Amino acid sequence: MNASDAVIRVEDLHKSFGNLAVLAGMSLSVARGETVCILGPSGSGKSTLLKCITRLEEPSGGRIFVSGIDITRADVDINKVRADVGMVFQQFNLFPHKTALGNIALALEKVLRMSKPQARQRAMEELDHVGLSEKADSYPSQLSGGQQQRVAIARALAMRPKAMLFDEITSALDPELVKEVLDVMRRLASEGMTMIVVTHEMGFAREVADRILFIDEGVIVEEGEPNAILTNPQHKRTQQFLAKVLD
Ligand code: ADP
Ligand code: MG
Repeated sequence: MNASDAVIRVEDLHKSFGNLAVLAGMSLSVARGETVCILGPSGSGKSTLLKCITRLEEPSGGRIFVSGIDITRADVDINKVRADVGMVFQQFNLFPHKTALGNIALALEKVLRMSKPQARQRAMEELDHVGLSEKADSYPSQLSGGQQQRVAIARALAMRPKAMLFDEITSALDPELVKEVLDVMRRLASEGMTMIVVTHEMGFAREVADRILFIDEGVIVEEGEPNAILTNPQHKRTQQFLAKVLD
């Protein structure tokens, strides 16, 4: 990959909490339109990596570039970083007193300073994108977990991000609601969105990922095409992890 094609480039990223080194020198690039799935055991640093890429955590060392801009610089506009790199979490974090449309429109008014009518129009487009236009006026409590998660995805997409980061977004859902959320990510991948997906859904990773990274103890242990990693892992730690999660 040509360095200039990278939407996200992480160079020797370190992150410690006190004397706990959570990220111990991680480097990766994600090309435009690429879907990278990240696998790894609990506590290996997956969420911390994604949070550093959106500056929800401050890196202890190393650099992170989004479309060539160093976002670890002190003078970077954090709001711009968060609009450019959308992140979706396991918890949906929707405002309970706002409708689905209202949740998305509010973010657009606050972050992008859009007018109310413009924000509502774009919010409607993004609800349609995730197949929820008929739920525009529903409150989160009136939506299933899968629907709430799709609203959260639409809220991030409404910022027209350069990349999307997904952190185990189906892990809290009832099993029958997982597919509708995976389908939305599948669709985004096929539309050419640049994505990093932390997931335990091995079928999804095999089918949708262009590349899989296996991380453990804050380093990338192994990376490659899904079939290579899932069928023929080279490292013992990858083999042990996969033996636990694959049937
Ligand atoms: P993963 O997402 O792979 O399960 P995390 O990135 O959430 O792992 O966490 C990696 C390690 O960092 C864990 O040991 C966790 O307890 C620790 N950690 C994460 N966030 C914090 C924090 N804000 N303060 C202290 N320790 C943290
Ligand atoms: Mg995590």
